[in-house]
Amino acid sequence: MTALDNTCAAYEAALVAQALSASTSADLAAHLTDCPACRRKLAAYRQMREGLLCGPFVSPGENLVARLMRMARHRLTGSPKKPLRPLPH
Ligand SMILES: [Zn+2]
Repeated sequence: MTALDNTCAAYEAALVAQALSASTSADLAAHLTDCPACRRKLAAYRQMREGLLCGPFVSPGENLVARLMRMARHRLTGSPKKPLRPLPH
């Protein structure tokens, strides 16, 4: 893993939050200016979010989308999996 990979990994959660429009980060914005890999990843997260919310089906809602985005992030980064809590009824 290179130093840039380590830097990019530190922005992973911020990328997901930004894709979910949950937060914006000035640090991430600065990183995105210089990092095409993270810009592509952010675009992929946004595309994934739009695909999940805009299909010809009943919207799964923001909570489910956020869970799926976290799962995708864990898969992409190889982070240890946290046990998922059951969905509320
Ligand atoms: Zn990056």
